[in-house]
Amino acid sequence: MKLNETLLNIPQVNGTSALSESGFTIEEIGDQHVGTSLETPMREDAFLLSNEEKKAIIARKFRDIMETLGLDLTDDSLQGTPDRVAKMYVEEIFSGLDDRNKPKVALFENKYKYNEMLVEKDITLYSNCEHHFVPIIGRAHVAYISNGKVIGLSKLNRIVRHFAKRPQVQERLTNQIANELKEILETEDIAVVINAEHLCVASRGIEDTNSTTVTAFYGGKFKENATKREFLDYIRME
Ligand SMILES: [Zn+2]
Repeated sequence: MKLNETLLNIPQVNGTSALSESGFTIEEIGDQHVGTSLETPMREDAFLLSNEEKKAIIARKFRDIMETLGLDLTDDSLQGTPDRVAKMYVEEIFSGLDDRNKPKVALFENKYKYNEMLVEKDITLYSNCEHHFVPIIGRAHVAYISNGKVIGLSKLNRIVRHFAKRPQVQERLTNQIANELKEILETEDIAVVINAEHLCVASRGIEDTNSTTVTAFYGGKFKENATKREFLDYIRME
């Protein structure tokens, strides 16, 4: 089955297998960033509410959180925060939960007969960790070998951005990008590497500001050592 196949390509993170499911407390899972599924866990009724309705509910509940923390919402600076957070969640940083926002991708014939690897590197990545709802900041590098079809370069950036705009774990984000590219480009010859800093590690918990997390997906020809090495040379990571 495809799910296991893709997840098995993911290297171990922090010494913990991405497939581990049991034996962890919630707090441990949160701090270990263990991912369990390729699909973002969504409710059946995820899109029954309109965006306007969602924003109204989130604003109300975020106001509750702020008030519970003891903040005075009549203060000029804080007054608009619940509405700002709600708008940011729905329209910006979590807009990738909605498949209707997925970038439309047109395929082109590979007229140049360029059959080598194409690498789009250093794609700016902003996401949010689903365990703490704080930012993940990094770079994504994606590559494919055309089987006769190509897509516009900026579409690669847009696909990365779409899946980043969800509450995420880095392993799942890596696989979701790879899967989308496989489907669009109709090839297994896809590579995705993400190197990112998790603010839940840097600004809280262990408070390590030096470490970054690397996840990788290698499909098809990228599983061969020579091809993988060529790709890693382009992005200068070993
Ligand atoms: Zn986290």
